[in-house]
Amino acid sequence: MKKKYLFYAVLAVFMLWFPAVVFNTAAAFSGHPDPGQIQAFIYHHFGMEEKYPSTSVSVKQFKAHLDYLEKNDYTVLTLGNALDLISSEDQLPEKIAVITMDDGYRSIWQHAVPILDEYGYTATVFIPTSHVGGNNYLTWRQIAELQKKGFEIGNHSHSHEYFLNHSKEKISKKFEADLEKSHELFRRHLNKTPKLYAYPFGEYNPEMIKVLKKYGYLAAAAQKSGVICTESNRFVLPRFPMNVQYGKTEGFAEKAQMNALRVVDAEPEDPVISGQNPPELTLRVQNSKIYPENLQCFVSGNRNCTVEHSGKNSEFVIKVRAGDKLSSRRTLYTVTASSREGSEWFWYSHLWIQPEYGE
Ligand SMILES: [Zn+2]
Repeated sequence: MKKKYLFYAVLAVFMLWFPAVVFNTAAAFSGHPDPGQIQAFIYHHFGMEEKYPSTSVSVKQFKAHLDYLEKNDYTVLTLGNALDLISSEDQLPEKIAVITMDDGYRSIWQHAVPILDEYGYTATVFIPTSHVGGNNYLTWRQIAELQKKGFEIGNHSHSHEYFLNHSKEKISKKFEADLEKSHELFRRHLNKTPKLYAYPFGEYNPEMIKVLKKYGYLAAAAQKSGVICTESNRFVLPRFPMNVQYGKTEGFAEKAQMNALRVVDAEPEDPVISGQNPPELTLRVQNSKIYPENLQCFVSGNRNCTVEHSGKNSEFVIKVRAGDKLSSRRTLYTVTASSREGSEWFWYSHLWIQPEYGE
């Protein structure tokens, strides 16, 4: 009985950063994503679904995901290579997908790598350096081996802590000290430091972004669902999370076919709620494929949310606000719309953080 409660508790937490919004709305569409986009997925454990249902996919599911990407002609790249490609002048492949894995668990080595090898794919693995070599975690030797195979190794902090729990003045100092510690280890074991970062728990603020830029980082991944496009903020890249529930083949296929809403500007920049609650999100959107009146918003899986729009049909401003006060540590606003003729879906999400709420 206790185990069951734990399962639902974990699932509920997962739902906070991944609303099940389009499961009903998008079930019927079929199509493929617009060019110039990257469908990025985030994984944690593989084959540990009994123990970690909210963060593990089964081995069978992972194989089915790669099979889908292969059969549907996706070009599977590391995140760094995919970002280079969409900002280059080169002819773009029609569909680009990226597999990312956070935390560097041992099951990556045991289960995911052999399957990726079968398909000839590589992935981007975000490593928290203090965890390396621990029980259930990859060793530096395995990580070096992955790097040799063409996998991309990204930084996921040294301590994997909640940086936003520090007082506002201290965050950037603590973050920078942690970054330097991780660099020392990356240099020692891999002879280089990463160019990509993934924020622990997806939590970031503008000061942390400044530090990453100062250290030459090219991009950083968040934990908000969505599709990367040329307009995306490089330091808050969206990824679709995968677990047992969302990793079912239909769910994966939906995300693989999703389009970016094409948000060219989002306000506020800081995800930490400091003023009114519920907070208001303002998005400037350039998209001639949708009617702004078709936009819907969801608050972590709940429809109690309003969208107002103004502007011309292809470029408009939308204001999104929850109906109720947000009362958890992390809350997502997700905005979706179908295309005018209904065959495609567009998605954008924004993370709000309230560090005063417990982890
Ligand atoms: Zn993590």
